[in-house]
Amino acid sequence: MATEGSDWLRDSFVLMNLFLGVSICKLLDGCIRISVPSHLLLHALHRRPIMRPNSHTLKHRPSHDTEREFGGTLGALCIPILLPLTVMFLICVSRSPEASVLQWPPPLPSSDQLWDPLALVLLLGWIALHALLYVIPLGKVSEGLVLRDGTRLKYPINGFHGLCISGVLLMLLLGLGAPLGYLFELLLPLAVCAIAVSFLFSVYLYIRSFWVPSHALALGGNTGNPLYDFFIGRELNPRIGNFDLKYFCELRPGLMGWVVINLGMLMKEVELRGSPSLAMILVNSFQLLYVADALWNEEAVLTTMDIVHDGFGFMLVFGDLAWVPFTYGLQAAFLVVHPQALSLLGAATIIALNGIGYYVFRKSNSQKNQFRRDPTHPSVARLETIATATGKRLLVSGWWGLVRHPNYLGDLLMALAWSLPCGFSHLLPYFYVIYFTVLLIHREDRDERQCRAKYGLAWDTYCRHVPYRIFPYIY
Ligand code: NDP
Repeated sequence: MATEGSDWLRDSFVLMNLFLGVSICKLLDGCIRISVPSHLLLHALHRRPIMRPNSHTLKHRPSHDTEREFGGTLGALCIPILLPLTVMFLICVSRSPEASVLQWPPPLPSSDQLWDPLALVLLLGWIALHALLYVIPLGKVSEGLVLRDGTRLKYPINGFHGLCISGVLLMLLLGLGAPLGYLFELLLPLAVCAIAVSFLFSVYLYIRSFWVPSHALALGGNTGNPLYDFFIGRELNPRIGNFDLKYFCELRPGLMGWVVINLGMLMKEVELRGSPSLAMILVNSFQLLYVADALWNEEAVLTTMDIVHDGFGFMLVFGDLAWVPFTYGLQAAFLVVHPQALSLLGAATIIALNGIGYYVFRKSNSQKNQFRRDPTHPSVARLETIATATGKRLLVSGWWGLVRHPNYLGDLLMALAWSLPCGFSHLLPYFYVIYFTVLLIHREDRDERQCRAKYGLAWDTYCRHVPYRIFPYIY
């Protein structure tokens, strides 16, 4: 299969492995820190000026509190090259007969397998559909947290409506005989288009960020290093009118695209074998539950690090539009080519594991959200807490007394349950749970540093009360 066009890909994969090693070491080693003076988190309140080129921002004045994450400039250079290659590599491996991530030479596509105009039409059509569903006045409107200029942005909470409407449209298409299984053939061109769209969109976001006032920039995304700022994101809440680009991308086209791709893989299995396998049904159902839950609880995204802290740059754009839909659902693509027999007892055990994971994940997230929204609510009022100098309290009993990130624990149990239906013969279906463990350990470390900067001694007291981070008695 190796063609001229694929030689550069093979070389890139060799480089990718080398750099991936470096990047992972950097990630595990902790981030490169410059300084995080916590008093700089408190800013004087300004009125938000109208959008026009600002002399301060045009001079590209760096913020003083910048901390370089994800391996700093080296990470910002390597990750935008390596992760798109990883997406393409994993898709190619998942459909190859060997499905081995260690196979050499790797299964490389020819150039005509990478591009299909239909993929671009479908991708842009899908994004346009969700942009339309976003602006339709369905559901309630919520306010985000207070910004540095003292204002609060408004967000439509209608993602779950979008999921239901897309579900009905898909059922109609299936009823009309649309060959949804063709998504299996289109997977690689779709991923290529999503990667290209992510790059172009990130360039647009980077350029437009020079026209916003300095208080609208993310604290960590204004270092003055163009490569790093492009990667990490300069502007905190880029908007076109009331249309919030980061919030839109966070849970809509990519997340819902993931379940549509899964459904496409299920339909491909039906085409090939007459009916969907139990393993495929489980993978589809678990991941649909996860996506539906995220959209049902869409309001909770307004208090996450992604919305509150991180700028909108390549890291989040690519994560939302390319990484999530094309790597989180690899199990379904794998099952199309590598069917697995699953006993009823095996299926029941996996369902139980997913159920426990979901219970821990949902209960712990809801407990903290409820506590942050209304600490006097009867469901949280009796929990033990400690005071902090900021006036906010920290939970030290209930789910948040078990480990410091019970929600990550639940998420990881679910991730394992998504891989188990694919059996134990290949490593590839376990990619997600392995990657996700690394991601959540890194994310926990970032959050821990931010909480220590925010809460100081109170955070240390919390850590003494609750010594384990994610896994009780292990980590
Ligand atoms: P969390 O929901 O874990 O929020 C962390 C914040 O919670 C802290 O910054 C702190 O903020 C507050 N907090 C921490 N400890 C306590 C405590 N003891 N009492 C009260 N408040 C506390 O952050 P994430 O955004 O990382 O995760 C949200 C969910 O999203 C998780 O379930 C995670 O697994 C999931 N996720 C999924 C991803 C995926 O790709 N599938 C990627 C990332 C996350 P403050 O005190 O300021 O309120």
